[in-house]
Amino acid sequence: MPDAVEIQEKHVRLIRKDAERHRDTEACGILIGFFDKNTAKVKEVVPAENILNSPIEFEIAPEVLYEIWNIADKKNMDVVGVYHSHVGAPAVPSARDEKFMKDSGFVWLIISKSGMNAYAWGDGVRKVRIKIV
Ligand SMILES: [Zn+2]
Repeated sequence: MPDAVEIQEKHVRLIRKDAERHRDTEACGILIGFFDKNTAKVKEVVPAENILNSPIEFEIAPEVLYEIWNIADKKNMDVVGVYHSHVGAPAVPSARDEKFMKDSGFVWLIISKSGMNAYAWGDGVRKVRIKIV
């Protein structure tokens, strides 16, 4: 299970902008990079459409996910995480988030007005350290 995520400041800005642009619906996207021991190192951020168009949940179309996996694969990278925004809630996983986190094995970055947190599943929801580089 990843216990840290390393992300560049420009990528944090991109995620924040994506969240601000959506405002009333959850923004979401994929984090591509590689795992270095237990650290997920983010090299690219790929915003994706929230097909639920909802303020309380998100979903990325399976074909879009597949496409992003392929892009990562071609670059010899992995999908190391997913990000999404919380519109009116703090940056902690919802019950639905937890359910999907359980099977993912990667980092969940959640951004809200009050800040950004990262989580991963390891025998329950665990907070992951964010290292901005
Ligand atoms: Zn959520």
